[in-house]
Amino acid sequence: MSIRLLLASVAMVALCASAPLAKSNRQPVKAPRIYVFDDGMLSGLDPKQYFGFERSELKAVDFTAQSYLIVHPKGTLMWDAGVIADSQFKGSEPVKDGISTATKPLLPQLAAAGYTPAEVTYFAMSHYHSDHTANANAFAGSTWIVQKAERDAMFAATPAAIMAPATFSALKDARTKVLDNEDYDVFGDGSVVLMSTPGHTPGHQVLFVKTAKRGPIVLAGDLYHYPEERATGKTPSFEFNAAQSKISRNRIEIFLKQTGAQLWIEHDIATHANLPKAPKYVE
Ligand SMILES: [Zn+2]
Repeated sequence: MSIRLLLASVAMVALCASAPLAKSNRQPVKAPRIYVFDDGMLSGLDPKQYFGFERSELKAVDFTAQSYLIVHPKGTLMWDAGVIADSQFKGSEPVKDGISTATKPLLPQLAAAGYTPAEVTYFAMSHYHSDHTANANAFAGSTWIVQKAERDAMFAATPAAIMAPATFSALKDARTKVLDNEDYDVFGDGSVVLMSTPGHTPGHQVLFVKTAKRGPIVLAGDLYHYPEERATGKTPSFEFNAAQSKISRNRIEIFLKQTGAQLWIEHDIATHANLPKAPKYVE
């Protein structure tokens, strides 16, 4: 082998070795797949003050925090963005910020699923509260799908409560699909559908995903925080509009009955305890 060829092949090996880990893990899909990302915990909330429950009435008082990547044959949708920004991590130490703790940054989990943020087609959030937006700016290169009422509140002169505007400021200039209190069939085949469920915030939404093996699933955002809210009808003390929340909940409960879909309450520890986490997935 000539020295020139040898150098060329060495360069090729180096090139392959430095190719992003992301792409090598990616597999084509035939039906929607859900990757679950572990974004940490929220501990020490007062359930009486914020949710009207005695501790003894709840199976678990603390919240888990998640975000999800939906992989569809026609593209990808990132749903929610975590409670602690990746930039807060220093080395491998867990990060604590107020009542929130996280042990894993988000983007390495996304990479384990096979994607960089730049490769994510769509980005949507259940709502603007700071425990769902931490890494939103990382997805400003995707097409952001948002309800008009939510977007208006996010960029209003006076920020709403439980909001961290710096975490999503880059979305202001993102390519955006604005919805007006309406549902949206993301990939056009009815398998991944954003559903308008205002009340918790002005433009709260949930995400319906039809998987082949596990069946239909609704990622509930904060339509509920505790499963016990479903039986009691209690709403949090900090709803944007509690009457609207009840109408939205009622709509989704009817939808669940009609479709047989599972409800994944995003903060519910029991729901997520047995779900596979990225790079494993639900299909
Ligand atoms: Zn939340």
